[in-house]
Amino acid sequence: MRVIADIERMQAQARLWARRGLRVGFVPTMGCLHAGHLSLVDCARQEVGGRGIVVVSVYVNPTQFGPKEDFDAYPRDLKRDLALCRKAGVDVVFTPRDAAMYPGKAQGRFSTYVVEERLSQVMEGRARPTHFRGVTTVVAKLFNIVQPEAAFFGAKDWQQAAILKRMVADLNLPVNLVVVPTVREPDGLALSSRNQYLTPEQRRQATALWRSLQHARQRVRRASMGAAQLRAEIEHLLRQQPEARLDYVEFFHGDTLVPVRTVRRGTHMALAVFVGPTRLIDNGRL
Ligand code: AMP
Repeated sequence: MRVIADIERMQAQARLWARRGLRVGFVPTMGCLHAGHLSLVDCARQEVGGRGIVVVSVYVNPTQFGPKEDFDAYPRDLKRDLALCRKAGVDVVFTPRDAAMYPGKAQGRFSTYVVEERLSQVMEGRARPTHFRGVTTVVAKLFNIVQPEAAFFGAKDWQQAAILKRMVADLNLPVNLVVVPTVREPDGLALSSRNQYLTPEQRRQATALWRSLQHARQRVRRASMGAAQLRAEIEHLLRQQPEARLDYVEFFHGDTLVPVRTVRRGTHMALAVFVGPTRLIDNGRL
């Protein structure tokens, strides 16, 4: 396994792979890797085959954090990440530095962003106004550097995947975007690097996100129901957890993200909940 920090070197390597006709699968991450990330790596390996190349990027992207968010506190452990990647059979880990990704940003010299204008207005985009601009920009940059044939993203960040699919289609990027199912703890909590912030009591209460999804699934299994009524029931469920505070819960069409008034089987649900100071998200098809 090779570790490449330099952008030009990574790009030169990508050109070499292309000349040799090697298939490249790419998994962008912010590090602090867990089994969710590793399932993306497994999918990438399956897609490109034993002779193909799997690249993982580990980069905590500053432009997708708001000014009051956890950029500085975000957990970083490159040594552990590299060991996990090596064990998972990754070929190259790309670890660019901020100064190279956003040269002159502090002096106002970095001034080109990729902005998706519609799907990024709702849910996470409303709660975190500059977040998706940071995501689309960094992923477009990473695609230009790594030049993958396929890139792998988690269904855990459903809206992010929808926006990136839109970006790939709108900008004719030659990348096949693959969305991989959410990996969960045995009690249903979606794996997330931010779960580390939780105290044992908060960790226990954090299962309320999964229980909310399961409650909604149960409620619409046989008959459809109003979104307002279901939202009220989920608010009630979350109020039983003293450390939990609902940010939003939305019911929408899974592809278009357009909200629905009537929730039925197949409708998509997403929610964001503060558990103590930590903001967790989850989603699923009902
Ligand atoms: P992050 O490091 O949080 O930016 O996540 C990198 C990628 O891993 C994104 O595509 C996430 O959607 C994906 N991911 C994060 N958590 C999970 C999970 N529990 N299951 C599957 N994929 C995940």
